[in-house]
Amino acid sequence: MYMNKIPVGILGASGMVGQMYVSLLADHPWFELRYVAASPRSAGKKYAQAVADRWHIDHELSKKEWDCGIGGLIVQDANDVSKAVIAHKAGCCDFVFSALEMDKTEITKLEEAYAEAGLPVISNASAHRMTTDVPMMIAEVNHHHTDLIPIQKKNRNWDRGFITVKPNCSIQSYITPLWALMQKGYEIKRLVVSTMQAVSGAGYPGVPSLDIIDNIVPYIGGEEEKTELEPLKIFGTINTDGRLVHASEPKISAHCNRVPVSDGHTACISLEFGTKKPSIEEVKKIWTDFTSLPQEEQFPTAPERPIIVREELNRPQPRKDKNAGKAMAVSVGRIRPCQIFDLRFVGFSHNTVRGAAGGGLLSAELLKHKGYL
Ligand code: NAP
Repeated sequence: MYMNKIPVGILGASGMVGQMYVSLLADHPWFELRYVAASPRSAGKKYAQAVADRWHIDHELSKKEWDCGIGGLIVQDANDVSKAVIAHKAGCCDFVFSALEMDKTEITKLEEAYAEAGLPVISNASAHRMTTDVPMMIAEVNHHHTDLIPIQKKNRNWDRGFITVKPNCSIQSYITPLWALMQKGYEIKRLVVSTMQAVSGAGYPGVPSLDIIDNIVPYIGGEEEKTELEPLKIFGTINTDGRLVHASEPKISAHCNRVPVSDGHTACISLEFGTKKPSIEEVKKIWTDFTSLPQEEQFPTAPERPIIVREELNRPQPRKDKNAGKAMAVSVGRIRPCQIFDLRFVGFSHNTVRGAAGGGLLSAELLKHKGYL
């Protein structure tokens, strides 16, 4: 049964993102979940027991999975890298998805320890997003940034291990549409973005109910800074001496809000083009037609259409659009001229799937396709 699949592990398997990984890996054609780790609080328990009263995912695993598959795996302490190394030697863990929520310095060190021990890390945490030799990838956008991996390994004298990261979940509701326009030669100079971010983005138990029911919280710690910086790394280029140079544009001004929505981050964008400006119809066509390497190579987790253009006046909406394209598509709508800049639209994506576990899985598929895993 395991013969042709790559055995994988999840660090932080009991959390919001970790559970989404578990769910998406349940019948993945290339990867088999064989190793789970979390905090010392969960370590030593069977996975089913560790998440018994806090399974957040709509999709229930089968009884067989709970009883004989993933549910029976013993949760290890994610801080103990030696356990993962033993699992690797036993053929049970070739690389790990990191979905840990810990102090940034601790995650930085821990992910490096896994990579140094020979286990590639595909991380959802923000700790390494700005590390210069660590690629921060959206598979449809900057798949060429995998070229940083050999440089990273050389810099750190790592043999088999390396680290790649996913960007912040909220920027994924509009980065792919921006990239599609840039690919067609439309420079984007400036943009203003206001996000409305779901509570699941804060993990579990996350935002206290008394703060969020019947309310909007106009502050998410560190989120605006990430929103303004991360796209410039994603749009950056690797120069001839192997350094990633960040893009200097677009200049971004962000307002990030937590709203009482369970899943899915919405972003309202106003943007300014360079001298060449597309018509609204051209924008819609570029987005509708856009595909990239994951679609061309038919990666298992890739949505057929990475960008779905909604023509209804009141879409996209979290409840109606969160599962679009296996919850991996970016839905866009309300595409119209802007009175101050050039173009306005609303972007939306599922934060724990496209923005986290699904995006991480797609990165892993890209890395396997390119021979890094
Ligand atoms: P979460 O629900 O709070 O889960 C955190 C996980 O980390 C749990 O498995 C927890 O184990 C483990 N953990 C906590 N403290 C630990 C420790 N001291 N040692 C080892 N493991 C520890 O968080 P989440 O929402 O899944 O987020 C996970 C990561 O993904 C975070 O870095 C977050 O910023 C990022 N992210 C989240 C989203 C999202 O939409 N939620 C999107 C993109 C990125 P126990 O259960 O045993 O405590």
